[in-house]
Amino acid sequence: MSEKKFASQADLVEKKTSFVKLSDNAYAYTAEGDPNSGVIIGDDSVMVIDTTATPVMAQPLIDHIRSVTDLPIKYVVMSHYHAVRVLGASAYVKEGAEQVIASRGTYELIVERGEQDMKSEIERFPRLFAGVESVPGLTWPTMVFDSEMTIFMGKLEVKLMHIGMGHTKGDTIAWIPSQKICFSGDLVEFGAAAYTGDAQLEEWPQTLETLRAMGPEKLVPGRGPALLTPAEVNEGIDYTKDFVTTLLAGAREAVAAGHTLKEAMASVRCLMDPKFGQVFIYEHCLPFDVTRAYDEASGIKHPRIWTAERDQEMWHSLQA
Ligand SMILES: [Zn+2]
Repeated sequence: MSEKKFASQADLVEKKTSFVKLSDNAYAYTAEGDPNSGVIIGDDSVMVIDTTATPVMAQPLIDHIRSVTDLPIKYVVMSHYHAVRVLGASAYVKEGAEQVIASRGTYELIVERGEQDMKSEIERFPRLFAGVESVPGLTWPTMVFDSEMTIFMGKLEVKLMHIGMGHTKGDTIAWIPSQKICFSGDLVEFGAAAYTGDAQLEEWPQTLETLRAMGPEKLVPGRGPALLTPAEVNEGIDYTKDFVTTLLAGAREAVAAGHTLKEAMASVRCLMDPKFGQVFIYEHCLPFDVTRAYDEASGIKHPRIWTAERDQEMWHSLQA
């Protein structure tokens, strides 16, 4: 009998990328459900939000930036610590980037679990790490903020904000107040599963409501197309909220009933599959998502660290 591989390891189809203009200052680099990046162009410099997974993969984004501006890429922002978002950073540093910026929570997670996360993510989803040999190691921030910081890129004001926990405890959004444009990282997803293996599921819905109350008119989610109207932004927030609340409610029910993780997987599927069964990377995410939701429902507040070994163990126990 052959062992069932991670759903993602059989996922080999390259995605088409798009560089979408949101305003004179803001662009979305999206990839049909693969991880997105964002670009902010100020009067004197450029900011990249999420670097792509490797320096090799960063190059096409740098080429897009060069097609619209010659200004220096000065700032790299990490929406959170996940390898697939941040390991391309050295490509921008080579281009002259001066600051790599993260929240305190993100910095703490890199210290605590960056190495394990890098190894685990690369083994889970090889397609997302094209040119992985070009990664020089972990990406370390050069600048860390507690709750928010403001950067003036010439006259353009940009806020980097940790508005609450969700996808991770360090989630950071980039916000252009004058244009109400938001780059949310994986705090918001659209048309793709939310990966919640390192999430704070209980807090996530409230953080989404805090974001909604800011009144974003355009939003670049972590995965999926750029959301270009207030109605689309609300739809993306609602979608993400439904995903995480359905997941946690299912896990809480299972834990209250004394069910095992494997039984919880089956009962959560009954709630999730009808709504989300068809979305991108659902089968990849669900075992990790249910495992974290089951832990959180069992009182484990701080997500356990995923290692390449724990990934395999979990996957085989749920598929067996
Ligand atoms: Zn992530």
